[in-house]
Amino acid sequence: MPVSISEEVRLAYVLRHFWLTYPGAPQLSIGYADIQPQVEIAKVGTSFFATTAPYPAPPQWREWLGQQVPFFFDDAPAAPLLVLQENRAFISADIISAAFYLLSGWQEYFSTERDQHGRFPYAASVQQQYSFVALPVVNYYFDVLRAAVEHVSGQLLQPRRWGDQQAAFAAFISHDVDNLHSGWKAPAKAALQQRQLGRFGRLLWQHLTQPDAWDNLEAVAAQVAQYGGRSTFFILPNHCPASNGTPNADYRLTRRLEQRLEQLEYQGCETGLHGSLGTSISPGKLRSEIKRANLNTTGCRFHYLSWEPRLTPFIAFLRDFFSYDSTLCFAEYFGFRHSYCLPFYPFDFNVGQEVEFLEIPLNVMDATLHHPNYLQLAPAEILPALRPMFAKIKRFGGVASVLWHNQNFDPANTTNGPRQFHEIMAHLQHEGAAFRTGRDIWEEFTREPTPNS
Ligand SMILES: [Zn+2]
Repeated sequence: MPVSISEEVRLAYVLRHFWLTYPGAPQLSIGYADIQPQVEIAKVGTSFFATTAPYPAPPQWREWLGQQVPFFFDDAPAAPLLVLQENRAFISADIISAAFYLLSGWQEYFSTERDQHGRFPYAASVQQQYSFVALPVVNYYFDVLRAAVEHVSGQLLQPRRWGDQQAAFAAFISHDVDNLHSGWKAPAKAALQQRQLGRFGRLLWQHLTQPDAWDNLEAVAAQVAQYGGRSTFFILPNHCPASNGTPNADYRLTRRLEQRLEQLEYQGCETGLHGSLGTSISPGKLRSEIKRANLNTTGCRFHYLSWEPRLTPFIAFLRDFFSYDSTLCFAEYFGFRHSYCLPFYPFDFNVGQEVEFLEIPLNVMDATLHHPNYLQLAPAEILPALRPMFAKIKRFGGVASVLWHNQNFDPANTTNGPRQFHEIMAHLQHEGAAFRTGRDIWEEFTREPTPNS
């Protein structure tokens, strides 16, 4: 059973992330009426957090920054959202409770819904129910708080900037390496089915004598480098399928592959662990995989985006071996699973406080965009669909996290392949993103802020 989460804990968790969003903001008092704060928030959510219900009452929609935004825990929708008085401000929706609810992943912890891979399904989420998955709602709440703090302090707050060039947002480009040797299979199978035996023979000969089209890590890194980016490769060190037959890697982590990865690291790329099926719920499996793999890694992403909200964040080995994870995204839809576009510290409901490894949430996976079980966007629809999401990440100084599997750099993939990837990269570059590896983002985000002068 989870411990009860006090009002002080919820407030501290939310405000910690607010200060991380606006480093250098003046630390004035923010809270509910009982502490007579300078920025007072209406208290609405208290009774909800004494329950184990996964979903709160439906949100009220209010306009902020020209955008309709859902406000949970808002029982005065007719009142103005932000009331500015002399030396103080009042916010009439309980944005602390609402931010805690979304950022902590409360719905996933208390819902029992899981899909066939053990994941919390998008279909069971408030993001799906109220259609706001592509909106970083918590960042909008923080922007209301920003306006209140600016009024009371008389100082302008600047959102986080990234890198030496002080870019308005960062981009994290990663590749889950599930397959290196299977690119020949689909065309060979098609040739057989069409009884094109000559073509089949040529493909088989190529397969036996030449590197596979998916054995392309160096080429992938070179394509990302065209935009000033450096790839993060999440390596899957388990080639045995899971007990239900779901595949893990189609390759083995050989000494030769390790050497290639070392060479890529030398060029500025990063190697992370792609935890195989089962490791997200088993500390023993994760530990032995880490030991066996012997990779130089600070980051983790689980294969199939596996994540059990009641177990995974609390696996001690995540904290002991990794500085960050980057699994949290809905496989079914791009956007913001925790309604937040910056890195954050996952909340541990078992002990009632946040864990000290960083989650760099994933925003979009290539497979989500075109897959029988997910979306079926046409190639020309992909970038237009993603552009508004990237614009919001830029507005709030966040991280645009893009997963493009190395196998989808195969020119034979014309639906969610290299061409669509390059369109996304050109867009991010044009918008001024600072391309960073996960490790860079972790280092920059956890560095002590310089005091506001
Ligand atoms: Zn994978």
